[in-house]
Amino acid sequence: MKIHGIVYLIVGAVMIAFTSFVENANPDAGISLFTWVGVVFIGIGVFKLIINFVNTEKTPKTSKNSQTSRFGFNSELSKVNLDQEALRQKQQIKQRMNQNLAPCPYCKTLIPVTSTFCPNCGNKLRA
Ligand SMILES: [Zn+2]
Repeated sequence: MKIHGIVYLIVGAVMIAFTSFVENANPDAGISLFTWVGVVFIGIGVFKLIINFVNTEKTPKTSKNSQTSRFGFNSELSKVNLDQEALRQKQQIKQRMNQNLAPCPYCKTLIPVTSTFCPNCGNKLRA
């Protein structure tokens, strides 16, 4: 569609240029009809370009609007998702920590299961 408008413009311009050239060379030839055709072509080209411009202007706008609204929605969603993700990660870390932590059999302090001695009471936990 864009190409058509530009092609019309080019054809019109070429026609006008050609006819003006011919008319300059031959003023009595009466080729002004072709000039008018060229003007019409240019008019059609401009018209098409304007329509294309309006259409292309309209479509990105609406899509942009829907995108922004969608984007806003998405960003909110992703925000919620991020919050949930962060919460889940925290919970996972907590779980992992809890899994890796075990209460000391002597003082009941949560200590890493890998520790040989309780950091709280200093009792030996494993051989
Ligand atoms: Zn202890």
